[in-house]
Amino acid sequence: MNRKTCPKCDSSRIVHDARVVDRNGDYPDGDLSVRIDRRPNAFLFKKPVDFKLKARVCCNCGHTELYATDLDTLWQTARTALAGPDGTGVDP
Ligand SMILES: [Zn+2]
Repeated sequence: MNRKTCPKCDSSRIVHDARVVDRNGDYPDGDLSVRIDRRPNAFLFKKPVDFKLKARVCCNCGHTELYATDLDTLWQTARTALAGPDGTGVDP
């Protein structure tokens, strides 16, 4: 996963694990994230869990890749949500 060169231009000028900022009006900067709803079919209270995204940036051509963090928890959260007996998910 930690490629040493850019897949577009083959440069080695790569910055790993750059923070991806998500601005929301006057509020402090947050991290761009992916969201998994633990109860995706619930009308209310979907019990979302957010996982931060990090970026790998090429400082030669600008190509940028996004990666999710906390992958084991993300996977388990998604599997648990899909495993609900009535499609409403199950609390882990
Ligand atoms: Zn590049």
